[in-house]
Amino acid sequence: MRKAAVGAAVVGAAAVCAVAALVVRHRMRKSSKWARCVSILREFEEKCGTPDAKLKQLADAMVVEMHAGLASEGGSKLKMLISYVDNLPTGDEDGVFYALDLGGTNFRVLRVQLGGKAGGIVHQEFTEASIPPNLMVGTADALFDYIAEKLANFVAEEEQKFNQPPGRQRELGFTFSFPVMQTSINSGNLIRWTKGFSIDDMVGKDVVAELSKALERKGVDMRVSALVNDTIGTLAGGRYSNKDVAVAVILGTGTNAAYVERAQAIPKWHGPLPKSGEMVINMEWGNFRASHLPLTKYDNALDAESLNPGEQIFEKITSGMYLGEILRRVLLKMAEEAAIFGDEVPPKLQCPFILRTPHMSAMHHDATPDLKVVGDKLKDILEIPNTSLKVRRVVVELCNIIATRGARLAAAGILGILKKMGRDTPRSGGSAKTVIAMDGGLYEHYTEYRNCLETTLNELVGEEMAAHVVFEHSVDGSGIGAALLAASHSLYLEDKS
Ligand code: ADP
Ligand code: MG
Repeated sequence: MRKAAVGAAVVGAAAVCAVAALVVRHRMRKSSKWARCVSILREFEEKCGTPDAKLKQLADAMVVEMHAGLASEGGSKLKMLISYVDNLPTGDEDGVFYALDLGGTNFRVLRVQLGGKAGGIVHQEFTEASIPPNLMVGTADALFDYIAEKLANFVAEEEQKFNQPPGRQRELGFTFSFPVMQTSINSGNLIRWTKGFSIDDMVGKDVVAELSKALERKGVDMRVSALVNDTIGTLAGGRYSNKDVAVAVILGTGTNAAYVERAQAIPKWHGPLPKSGEMVINMEWGNFRASHLPLTKYDNALDAESLNPGEQIFEKITSGMYLGEILRRVLLKMAEEAAIFGDEVPPKLQCPFILRTPHMSAMHHDATPDLKVVGDKLKDILEIPNTSLKVRRVVVELCNIIATRGARLAAAGILGILKKMGRDTPRSGGSAKTVIAMDGGLYEHYTEYRNCLETTLNELVGEEMAAHVVFEHSVDGSGIGAALLAASHSLYLEDKS
């Protein structure tokens, strides 16, 4: 071979080698990126783990905190607030009552006609509106004026047959689902905001007084007769139709629970012992925290950047406001470090709270063979045009990890309540049933979450006991319950007897 030919052959071979090396490097890069994606996924899965033993530890920790919260004010992260509800509805309530349900994404105004003994709910109607985001972080007056205005419209449209008898004021049960230190059944001061609300001039103020002033400003003739939150309302609404209801759990934008406690088991209660011997406790369990809680770096970052850092940690890994946001944070990490959505990180993926829990549940429930729903959501919400099946599968797996952790933690919380009530094991000779009234958009619509929660509790209490613990979806319970409590605490009760 001549020198030039040799040179050309060498150059040619080198070029082939270079191309081959590029291809190999590209493949290696791709495969090492995929390996990075898988390792992010597995690490997250491991950190989110909730083996039964851990759930039992958490339930025990919940019981300890419940005792501490009942012992003294400020004794625990669990406020264990005294609701002043010592008499749940009996079924004898009578008349037309109103309810206002404010506590997160939407608020509702209800009108309920109660039929008295054995009459049940004769009529109910409601109107719903969302809270404009600017009012969630504005002033108390702006928020309450907006609400009072809607109430004014609702009252103005009232059919004549629902008018109050002469000389009698309309009465309202106010479901206000934020931590409130009650001072009576119809007064209480806001402790702090949660769930994305932050209205500084409202903290520490009497919630009923603020609402009443706004009602007056808007010319609504109405007395607030009961102040509750959604858990208390749901408990009351549930008890009205089922005597075995003793616990209520809300899983919606946020999460919380209430249950019926023996009045004598509440050392911090210095009032008279109620005739019933019982008092409903609003746990504010969203603020639960324990060293065994499975927290990841994504949860910690979400918390640090939230409006209420360090608070509501249980809520932030369990409830609807946050689950989609946790998913977004893990996907962002995968986009940055493993390029799962291509070389550029999709700009939309960097927007906090753009991925909502309803989107997440739609993707999680995707039953199409090519995960079309996942592909569509990624396209519509995050503007990621094409995604491979492999990536879509990762998204579903993440949904499953996040929802499973939340649902199992909620089950552990319920186990804690059952333990505190002494209803977690079959009682000697007894077949007492404990019904848990459940409500909230997350519980209602996220089937995988709900099934996981119920299965987990059944597993935790065991087969025999599982037969005595019943979940009941309490439809609109929180609003109706508030109307029922307004009825049982009516100003005009003596008129009727
Ligand atoms: P709130 O808690 O604000 O009173 P809801 O009980 O109606 O209101 O709960 C609303 C929350 O439920 C939403 O913020 C959302 O997180 C969750 N949610 C609503 N629809 C769905 C859905 N289809 N899948 C999963 N979660 C849902
Ligand atoms: Mg609600």
